Amino acid sequence: MVCRSCGQVGLNTVLSLGNTPLANALLREEELSASESKWPLELCWCPTCSLVQISETVSPEVLFREYAYLSSFSDTMVAHARTIADRLRETRKLGPDSLVVEVASNDGYLLQWYHKAGVPVLGIEPARNIAQVAESERGVRTISEFFGRDLAHQLVRDGMRADVIHANNVLAHVADLNGAVAGFATLLKPDGVVVVEAPYLKDLLDHVEFDTIYHEHLCYFSLTALTLLFGQQGLEIFDVERLKIHGGSLRIHAAKAGTTTVKASVHDLLEEEATWVRDPEFYQSFGERVESLRRELVGLLNSLKAEGKRIAVYGASAKGSTLLNYFGIGSDVLEYVVDRSTVKQGRYTPGTRLKIHDPSRLTEDQPDYCLLLTWNFAEEVLAQQEQYRSRGGKFIIPIPSVRVA
Ligand SMILES: [Zn+2]
Repeated sequence: MVCRSCGQVGLNTVLSLGNTPLANALLREEELSASESKWPLELCWCPTCSLVQISETVSPEVLFREYAYLSSFSDTMVAHARTIADRLRETRKLGPDSLVVEVASNDGYLLQWYHKAGVPVLGIEPARNIAQVAESERGVRTISEFFGRDLAHQLVRDGMRADVIHANNVLAHVADLNGAVAGFATLLKPDGVVVVEAPYLKDLLDHVEFDTIYHEHLCYFSLTALTLLFGQQGLEIFDVERLKIHGGSLRIHAAKAGTTTVKASVHDLLEEEATWVRDPEFYQSFGERVESLRRELVGLLNSLKAEGKRIAVYGASAKGSTLLNYFGIGSDVLEYVVDRSTVKQGRYTPGTRLKIHDPSRLTEDQPDYCLLLTWNFAEEVLAQQEQYRSRGGKFIIPIPSVRVA
């Protein structure tokens, strides 16, 4: 195994999650008779640059050309996007002559805020079905391509240079990491800024968020690993923020090396990471905590089932797929899934094959418990499901530790 960032040969294993189906490969009714493809899922870390990564690469054409996750289905995501767009528009003094590019722009949930304020935008979104939604519903100019060195050079030849490049929750998806970061450097104006958000490895490990490990997430970033990766392509991270979104994320701000002052936030976090980022025992204890969570959750579900309780699931998420498949929880305990995304309704979950319904089913059917697999949006979901809860329905939130609400 070769490190995806620095090329080191030989990586250390953290956790092996066995062979699993692709976490977002929801099944249509007519696909239920066929068997599903499964791929090995193993988490490793690089002793040289410290990057945590999975060993298997499933082709991006298989993973991302048809994608069922629309960011705008989450109110939290849209509000979060608006805040950063407004902030950058002011601090970078963006106007009609600027250009904001977003890599993996999804349905235009972020770029719409610049577009509405009169700042030119370009979305890059490989999932054609979602790129179309951005264009038709939000008027966000979007090209349906994979981003990397080649596309960045082509855009520059077409006369484009970005003041701001956003890349939220996409770097982890990219097989050619150095190609993507080189693409940022190419496309950026000399005084431009790259703003990247990615789930933070420390939060994943501290809060036992093992369910964020699936084939689409090739890498799990620390600031240490990101600093080395960006440095390899002439970019320097000059500011970092820790965000609560998605169970804990990093937002880094990078510019061309040597053009700006590196803030204390970067030095401080690098110093803190030095205490664990290359410590084998730290990774080993994570594996042990995952096993203990499995025992607790499976034990609770089995005892509720034995009491005759009915249990449904909220959230046909990729996270949920990892959790159910790795923990071996299926239709013997769970009845069905509800999800707000109309794209997912009527389909079945990968591996476990539970049917997905509209969330209104919860109040119509009133199961005793609902396992919340989109725990990262727990507050939002609990508020939306006030009626189900006021009639006695309870949510089981599995992560970071099992609790009933
Ligand atoms: Zn490495």
